[in-house]
Amino acid sequence: MEAGINAHRKKTVCLVSLGCPKNLVDSEVILGYLQQNGFRITTRREAAEIIIINTCAFIEGATQESLQAIFESAQYKKRGKCRILVVAGCLPQRYRDALRKELPEVDLFIGTGELHRIAGLIDRFENHSLMNGMQVGRPDFLLDHGTPRLLSTPSYTAYLKIAEGCSNACSYCLIPSLRGKYRSRKTNSILKEAEALARRGVKEINLISQDTTLYGKDLRDGSDLTSLLKSMVHIPGIEWIRLLYCHPEHLSGELISLMAEEKKICSYLDLPIQHVSSSILKRMNRRGNRRELGRTLSRLREKIPHIALRTTVMVGFPGETEEEFHELMHFIEEVKFDHLGVFRYSREEGTPAAKLKKQVSQRTKDKRHNLIMKTQSLISLKKNQERIGSHIPVLIEEQVPHKGYRLKGRASFQAPEIDGLVYLTRGKAQIGENVEVKVTGASEYDLIGEVV
Ligand code: SF4
Repeated sequence: MEAGINAHRKKTVCLVSLGCPKNLVDSEVILGYLQQNGFRITTRREAAEIIIINTCAFIEGATQESLQAIFESAQYKKRGKCRILVVAGCLPQRYRDALRKELPEVDLFIGTGELHRIAGLIDRFENHSLMNGMQVGRPDFLLDHGTPRLLSTPSYTAYLKIAEGCSNACSYCLIPSLRGKYRSRKTNSILKEAEALARRGVKEINLISQDTTLYGKDLRDGSDLTSLLKSMVHIPGIEWIRLLYCHPEHLSGELISLMAEEKKICSYLDLPIQHVSSSILKRMNRRGNRRELGRTLSRLREKIPHIALRTTVMVGFPGETEEEFHELMHFIEEVKFDHLGVFRYSREEGTPAAKLKKQVSQRTKDKRHNLIMKTQSLISLKKNQERIGSHIPVLIEEQVPHKGYRLKGRASFQAPEIDGLVYLTRGKAQIGENVEVKVTGASEYDLIGEVV
């Protein structure tokens, strides 16, 4: 526990959370520790005496977004109530001391391994007993069920981080250096947190980590994702369990069988494949090839016919030829994913791929990105149209009294924030309620329906 904790803690804090759901959980942990130490939380930067930006920096685009949020927040220091500006997360973890010169308006930098020390660090900064405003160490923090956490998602849904870090070492990725090696939480700790979330009214649990399918392997005590899920499905109150960030190489037959049997486990899988060309996968330091990926996906669809598949692909990886790109396009046209995201390769200093020859031009990356998005939008529209007339379970999220709609929600085949929505034109339901809906219309990414 940091020395010098004092009465100043009644200060008001606003946190801006950037990046992925894994970073959102870190933001909730930061707010949990601050609230536990008596700080008051506000969502308005103009009302905050302390502003914290929990940053993302795994690719250039994310770094720019983080810098933009820091510059904007620094304005509140000049013109608002803000006295202390804190930058946490992947940006300080990546750039460390180089940031000091770039960002003189920032008072405190906190790395991904120091989240649990934030309250004490702010106090020491305030009473001038903190010598070094750059608090970035080894990225080895791992939350557990006792870690304070202030949920920021709606009351009926929550992310549950089951592991931290990554040891897969894909050649284009900085995450292992920002988050440390893969480390699973203990199964009991995860189950205790899931029970606590269910007691608070959470119905949908989204399991996250850098590689959710690798869960437990590093514990070498027989823990794995399948045994974790076998216990989690028995927690009363939980209705949907969703698996995000799975890896095609670590998908087991047991897991697929359990997903087929257990109704509470959503027939949904987020399975980033990145590419299908074996030469590119090799240069990405990822194993597998088109045939193996095809077999894995057919096996999934055989066992779970209505499974919704989400994936992420990357275009413009160094050396990607037209031929290799078209191999990926054909695979996407063949497999017809329900949801698909496309990244343009981003040359990140410090990664092996950044040293590769034949870097692809931005113009070619944009062209390939747009071609895949166009193809996928047609696939998604057709799949949504095929759902017209069917009945689906929908988790109601919001009242939307406009454009002839009454409510909106998500089906079990739609993950929060990244997939489409279901807009309801008729019927009554409460927010957070899981209701049966008849699909009456479809667009590229969304559905229209009526509560049955
Ligand atoms: S699996 Fe690969 S891309 Fe994903 S976080 Fe790990 S190293 Fe990065």
